[in-house]
Amino acid sequence: MKLCRFDDNRLGVVEGDMVRDVSAALGCLPTAHYPLPTHDLLIALLPQVREAIEAMNGAGAVRPLSEVRLLSPVANPAKLVAAPVNYRAHIEEVIANEATFTKNHGLKIRETGLFLKANSSLIGAGSPILIHHDDRRTDHEIELAVVIGQTCRDVSADKALAYVAGYAIGLDITIRGPEERSLRKSLDTYSVLGPWLVTADEFGDPTARDLLLTVGDETRQKANTRDLILDVPALIEFASSFYTLHPGDVIFTGTPEGVGPITPGDRIRASITGVGAMDVDVVSG
Ligand code: MN
Repeated sequence: MKLCRFDDNRLGVVEGDMVRDVSAALGCLPTAHYPLPTHDLLIALLPQVREAIEAMNGAGAVRPLSEVRLLSPVANPAKLVAAPVNYRAHIEEVIANEATFTKNHGLKIRETGLFLKANSSLIGAGSPILIHHDDRRTDHEIELAVVIGQTCRDVSADKALAYVAGYAIGLDITIRGPEERSLRKSLDTYSVLGPWLVTADEFGDPTARDLLLTVGDETRQKANTRDLILDVPALIEFASSFYTLHPGDVIFTGTPEGVGPITPGDRIRASITGVGAMDVDVVSG
């Protein structure tokens, strides 16, 4: 199932080029009281939400996807975890270009570890990326994004995929420079998740998925998840050995080679096999 959030927090099921409004299924979620849960309520109760959607039996207004504004499919992640330099060819690119990538970026992921992006940076495919520091170089990074479905800690790789709710395309937008990653990658709109969530049962095995990112007519990043250094199960094992993962936590699995600058006026098209494609505009802001 492909689930999206759109317009004024509507819930939709994506069927081809159309979206069916299944917001009525949100009625199965409990009313939250302070203090609010530190996870995403919809993702935590995804099995119940899916049952409620099935019970609607095809009811719900259908609209063209092109007419709705897509929001992040996860509304309230507790954290956005991200993997640096997790593709072999991207490490070579980093080492070859020290002027752009500071020296420690070439370290392998088990030495570098993971980092967090601010939740306030998260947007969906229907919102533009806002370039705020236009005197700095800002780059695109396409990544397979994994959405955690159940609370887990110290999960072994062989059991890790059972804790995944689904997958989406992630754009880890980045200002280049010497500051901490958590600062350079956390500007408002610098984490794009979309265009929708493909549930784990529909998506299947996350290995050997093609990633493609173009800016205008130019192909920038073309890669395959089989070249990940730490694959999805290994990343979940690694991340959950440091912090508990909660429903709705997002893991950006790292970007392949071909990162490059974006400037206002650009349009990014990003696609991953098994998810789909999204167009994201870049504007000054
Ligand atoms: Mn990245």
